[in-house]
Amino acid sequence: MFPTTIVGSLPKPSWLAEPAPLWAPWRLSGEDLLRAQRDAALVMLKLQEDAGLDIVTDGEVFRQHFVHGILEHIDGLDFQNKKRIGIRAGRYQADCPRVVAPIARRKPIHAPEAAFTRAHTRSQLKFTMPGPMTIVDTLADEYYQDRPKLAMEFAKILNQEARELEAAGVDVIQFDEPAYNVYLDEVATWGIETLERAAEGLEIKTAVHICYGYGIKANVDWKKTLGGEWRQYERTFPVLAKSKIDQVSLECAGSRVPLQVLSMLKNKDVLVGVIDVATDRIETPQEVAQTIRDAAEHVPPERIIPCTNCGMVPLSRDVAVGKLEALAGGAAIARKEYGKG
Ligand code: ZN
Repeated sequence: MFPTTIVGSLPKPSWLAEPAPLWAPWRLSGEDLLRAQRDAALVMLKLQEDAGLDIVTDGEVFRQHFVHGILEHIDGLDFQNKKRIGIRAGRYQADCPRVVAPIARRKPIHAPEAAFTRAHTRSQLKFTMPGPMTIVDTLADEYYQDRPKLAMEFAKILNQEARELEAAGVDVIQFDEPAYNVYLDEVATWGIETLERAAEGLEIKTAVHICYGYGIKANVDWKKTLGGEWRQYERTFPVLAKSKIDQVSLECAGSRVPLQVLSMLKNKDVLVGVIDVATDRIETPQEVAQTIRDAAEHVPPERIIPCTNCGMVPLSRDVAVGKLEALAGGAAIARKEYGKG
């Protein structure tokens, strides 16, 4: 009961990339970079296993940014001449690759990373990829000029990747869709359809992560505009409940999400965010256990997977490790209380 996991990313070692900033440049290149990324993945596995987590990830150390990792290997995108655009409905500006021609995948992108990671852990392994809507929202599209169409094209590529990840021995594939908290109408009209296309034919567990973003200033400022109760999930969860996706990852700790919305996720496993990634303050295991108890009032306990609110890549190593330990410690307390240690 209460198996623990993280959303996906952990802080990169300082010898791999500059710590803290998003899109931090690599310190190495070519073969040296690949070797360093693999070394980093081993460290990330060890940190999670030592903390006592049950479902581990590669810490996303093979990618510069959670969206651009896959995109760098896709034809039809211009990474040389990026365009500064407002993303997440203009919440912040980012230099995004331009779509200039039909998109295509040359060869498997993540499968070698997954195979390497799989070979070095006996724990359950989760692998993350950006979802179609979030990919489309992080690109300057000058070719398709049609977001649902472009999203569906990406969904087909994601599905190829996902099938290869499954063959590589991954246990859970998670699609990250922070854009679901921004484009609420589009989730129903084409978000779920493209997500399900990305997950089509998979026999392993599938998850979608929907959050209010990393703890960067633009997100913190945005949250201040959302009022006393954050009700975005109330619009999307009923639609997600009807989807074929098995698990939903959401933000709870330190947020203003009314937990009643969790009851809308009928029959889904719920990755309850019990660790706030927008603060350096490390939760106590007791606080984590309390968030689990609160969630258990709305979701059957056997469907709860304690998790972080979002990725931890912008945090320091020490803070991230402290939070991993609090996550595992809090779940252990809750497990005792609910009677299945
Ligand atoms: Zn997130």
